Amino acid sequence: MLYTIEYLTEKILESEKAYDLEKITEAYEVANVAHKGVKRSSGEPYITHPIAVACILLEFCMDTDTICAALLHDVVEDTDVTLDELRKKFGSDVANLVDGVTKIGQIPLNTTKEEQQAENIRKILIAMSKDIRVIIIKLADRLHNMRTIMYRPPEKQRKKALETMNFYAPIAHRLGMSAVKEEMEDISIRILDPYGSKMIEDMLDKHKEKRDTFIDVIKERIRDRISDIQPPPTIEGRVKSVYSIYKKVYVKGKSFDEIYDIYAVRVIVQTVIECYNVLGIIHDIFKPIPYRFKDYIATPKPNRYQSLHTTVIGREGIPFEVQIRTYEMHNTAQYGVAAHWKYKAGISGKVSGEKRFDWIRHILEQQQDSDDVEQIADAIKVDLAPDDVYVFTPKGDVVTLPAGSTLIDFAYAIHTQVGNKMTGAKVGGKMMRFDYTLKTGDIVEIITSSNAGPNRNWLDIAKTSEARAKIRSWFKHECREENITEGMASIELEFRRNSMVPTPEFINELAKLQHFDNAEDFYAAIGYGGVILSKIMQRAKDLYNQQNQEKQQQSSEEIINGSISRSRRGGVIVEGIDNCLVKYAKCCNPLPGDDIIGFITRGYGVSVHKKDCVNVLNSPPADKERWIKVQWAGGLDNESYNATIDIIAEDRTALIADVTAAIAASRLPIRHITAHNLKNGNGNIIVTIEVASVEQLNALISRICKITGVISAERTGIV
Ligand code: MN
Repeated sequence: MLYTIEYLTEKILESEKAYDLEKITEAYEVANVAHKGVKRSSGEPYITHPIAVACILLEFCMDTDTICAALLHDVVEDTDVTLDELRKKFGSDVANLVDGVTKIGQIPLNTTKEEQQAENIRKILIAMSKDIRVIIIKLADRLHNMRTIMYRPPEKQRKKALETMNFYAPIAHRLGMSAVKEEMEDISIRILDPYGSKMIEDMLDKHKEKRDTFIDVIKERIRDRISDIQPPPTIEGRVKSVYSIYKKVYVKGKSFDEIYDIYAVRVIVQTVIECYNVLGIIHDIFKPIPYRFKDYIATPKPNRYQSLHTTVIGREGIPFEVQIRTYEMHNTAQYGVAAHWKYKAGISGKVSGEKRFDWIRHILEQQQDSDDVEQIADAIKVDLAPDDVYVFTPKGDVVTLPAGSTLIDFAYAIHTQVGNKMTGAKVGGKMMRFDYTLKTGDIVEIITSSNAGPNRNWLDIAKTSEARAKIRSWFKHECREENITEGMASIELEFRRNSMVPTPEFINELAKLQHFDNAEDFYAAIGYGGVILSKIMQRAKDLYNQQNQEKQQQSSEEIINGSISRSRRGGVIVEGIDNCLVKYAKCCNPLPGDDIIGFITRGYGVSVHKKDCVNVLNSPPADKERWIKVQWAGGLDNESYNATIDIIAEDRTALIADVTAAIAASRLPIRHITAHNLKNGNGNIIVTIEVASVEQLNALISRICKITGVISAERTGIV
């Protein structure tokens, strides 16, 4: 078939309907110039494709604007022609149709999703085509692409066949366009299961001659008996579609012989009365199979299909189906909603907006009593009362949001962290402001950065309470002070793992190195994740080691600064020195009762360690003289001390609750608690509490060890 403008013109004239040939020719001219020089995979000029699509729509008797839009359906997407130009030249109806076809063509059709997702996507396709003609053009477009699919590479064929099977054929079915549906399915199944469908075609071929004679004989017998009906009814004989037989054989597991309706004879008459007359005559000639009679005239199918079906047995004992219907029913059966233009709208007269809704309601009213009704009602509800918008991620996942939602709502709907770290967003590939209102079918990509955080004005932009709650929670939990605490805790933990002591001077220096003005900013950045500690640890270690070496080279006979005149903590007696500043080393958190030793620091007085602390044991020989004897004062002490317990337990619910309950029962205040899962599946809880003595701590540890699931609980250094 050579699709040229001459061929299209000829078909239009043949139709004897009042098409606006001038407008159609002009649309052709614009498309022809725009696609000039471009070829299809078949080697034919690109313009043959839009012409072929227009021809398919002409068969459906679609109106002039639809034919024009069909000719122009790829120009906005593929060429320099703009929608505005189309609007100026052909009016807003044609422009809107082209725009609609372009937009639904951009919807990512993910064929790996489960049925519910596929159903959502079908809804979107229908909902986005505010004008049902958009879907009809898209179906014609896909039908022609499938007819010429053999020119595409095999993997493209498979992808297109899957999309057609999952999305387009079901929509054609829903719209009652059975001719389109059957052709799409037959082409697709040959690609998706070449062997299975070949087997069925072979079986059909094997009996072709016998079957043709069989059908001819039946047609003749029927024609004889209904010869007094005027004008004479049309009698057609046919074999059911390959895919409908395929489904019965492979899905329903029926054997080829069990399928009654491989053969079908169709009688098409003028009136409904004649339908029932013909039915009576058929049942008189052939023996009907019980329970195989269906009256879809009295009870139409959801997609408006009407017909009488009966299965009867021919003289040779072969069963066959007879369908009896009027010409109007036949058109509806073939073209579904498109048949509407054949009868109601005429060719040039477009359906006005109001009427269009009436007609959709009409479909709905006709479709009560069926499972499908729900689905169609849902699909159209989206259009009539847009409560929700359906938006896509770049991967093709559908996100449902209330109408009016913005990019901020979308980002938080994907994931809290996506929302919190959003720095920008693209809709259909274009950067958009955060207050952009989402529309069904938008493909949204969120750009994030690990340094980012929400802005307070997002609370005004977000429409969903979920997003607003998450933003508020960010400000509540991620506010500066908490970030600082969090950052300090991370530093201490990470340093402990590396046997390093985070002195304030060292942290200050490290902060400067990371371009922070002060240690607090640095802690805060670590707290909210702006600085990834594990990424800077190597640098920190290098700096730390370098400084420690320098310290070793310096004189180790440093005297305690004379200005230190009072002891801030009364719990420790430093041998030979009164009123010296004492602090407890965080690496080991010594408690009254522990064996302790003091270290003369540079400017911070004496730091008290447990004798078995890793930093004592690993102390460089050059520092030997800086270690001095200290001891617990005993009795004088009202102080409380921090102690940290590292608990490993089988992961279970309420574990943390049980641990905190044990601590509460010991009446020891909790300073800090963290919990996380270990790689082996166990849970790890690290809790810092205030205790007065090592006895108190040991009592608590034995209490914790008794908790169900606890594997170990050990005193440890700082967290
Ligand atoms: Mn196309």
